[in-house]
Amino acid sequence: MSALKAKIEDVFNEPGCDKNQGKDAKARKKGCSKPLTPGAAAGGCAFDGAKIVLQPVTDVAHLIHAPLACEGNSWDNRGAASSGSSLWRTSFTTDLTELDIVMGQGERKLFRAIREIAERYAPPAIFVYSTCVTALIGDDIEAVCRRAAEKFGLPVVPVNAPGFVGSKNLGNKLAGEALLDHVIGTEEPDDVTPYDINILGEFNLSGEFWMVKPLLEKLGMRVRACIPGDARYRDIATAHRAKATMMVCSTALINLARKMEERFGIPYFEGSFYGISDTSEALRQLAALLVQQGAPPELLDRTESLIAEEEARAWAALEGFRPRLEGKRVLLNTGGVKSWSVVHALQEIGVEIVGTSVKKSTLEDKERIKQILKDENHMFESMAPRDLYAMLAEHKADIMLSGGRTQFIALKAKMPWLDINQERHHPYAGYDGMVELARQIDIAIHNPVWETVREASPWDADGNLISSAPNPGENDDTPLAEPVHAFRKFANSNADEMGEC
Ligand code: SF4
Repeated sequence: MSALKAKIEDVFNEPGCDKNQGKDAKARKKGCSKPLTPGAAAGGCAFDGAKIVLQPVTDVAHLIHAPLACEGNSWDNRGAASSGSSLWRTSFTTDLTELDIVMGQGERKLFRAIREIAERYAPPAIFVYSTCVTALIGDDIEAVCRRAAEKFGLPVVPVNAPGFVGSKNLGNKLAGEALLDHVIGTEEPDDVTPYDINILGEFNLSGEFWMVKPLLEKLGMRVRACIPGDARYRDIATAHRAKATMMVCSTALINLARKMEERFGIPYFEGSFYGISDTSEALRQLAALLVQQGAPPELLDRTESLIAEEEARAWAALEGFRPRLEGKRVLLNTGGVKSWSVVHALQEIGVEIVGTSVKKSTLEDKERIKQILKDENHMFESMAPRDLYAMLAEHKADIMLSGGRTQFIALKAKMPWLDINQERHHPYAGYDGMVELARQIDIAIHNPVWETVREASPWDADGNLISSAPNPGENDDTPLAEPVHAFRKFANSNADEMGEC
């Protein structure tokens, strides 16, 4: 535990994290967790955060050393996509019972689980996660992993982030530390080029990194490791030979980016692939860093030509949506890097931002939003569901963009909603992703269902049919679908009885 304590202190002192650096020494010691609001869900634990960061590594077996409930269901719980193995989606857990704990069987059970996975699946590596129960009973997962690695001849990586040590965000960073301590730099590639790059904090949700990768390939850049989206173990083990790093989500892996710069001399910058200008800027910065690291300077010209070509194509595709979206008002309830990069992207297609949450944003994120929005009043630290509902119900916004948890607020207010968080089904990164985002907002706002659900109900508060109210579709020549006919016939023939109910 003392090694874990030292690791947590080290993560809290991360010089690359503005938020932590802005705190005094006492506040920094307390870490990133905020006091919980009574009645509000607590969010994920540190184990959850570590698993979120590492699970998209696709060919690795992720083994959770815990009672069954910590693992839950890992199949499709987030939308990260794989172009190969699906081993990462399978739940592996030691499933500790009370008896195992009382009898001190934890470490033995873990060793047996590692052996079973190694024999049945032969993965290139196994990641072993500690959790509250197994950390509290003192199971030494580092020692078990070391012994199992020797015995079975494959890397067995301990991920020491039990839930009680802190927030999901801390778990993200501890996952980065596990990669640094046990994976990155453990293999030497034999195909290094001056165009090798790493992308950190990209989760390939709905396969959106595949909208960007072809652009990088057109420029001759080779993604040595995209961590964690669609990553392979070997990609990460050889990531120390990249020449430049782009960090997509700073709050998750800033410590990893900074320490890779310190340890292996790989410079990094923070960027985003959401929106046309941000995608162009990311390509430019990658090219500039590679040239600074020794790539031929002609890369800069090729990058500019590609940007000009892709931007022209994307703007032409967006023109069709502009008349339908111009002036529409968007309420954005998301966090982190998305809070500023999506704001910027939306403004590019002419929509107005009437509010954006900054709850999970860093000081730097907030600064960027201020610059983009030019009005701090549209930033809210945290908005209660009732306030979100009021804003939508009073028609102060035309659509809400958020995660699945708040979708029912919009639906209750009979307003369109679009998922932009990790469970989303559409990729929004890169130039084509921007066109897709415009298309999905257009579809959501102009869906004819809104007109129908907003119509006055043909029943009064007591359930009586209002005779003066036109039946839906009554003045419409469109033939009604059979079930609607049947229902209407039933409702009309039973109107009297229904009224008496
Ligand atoms: S808080 Fe502890 S017990 Fe709960 S899921 Fe996280 S690791 Fe498991």
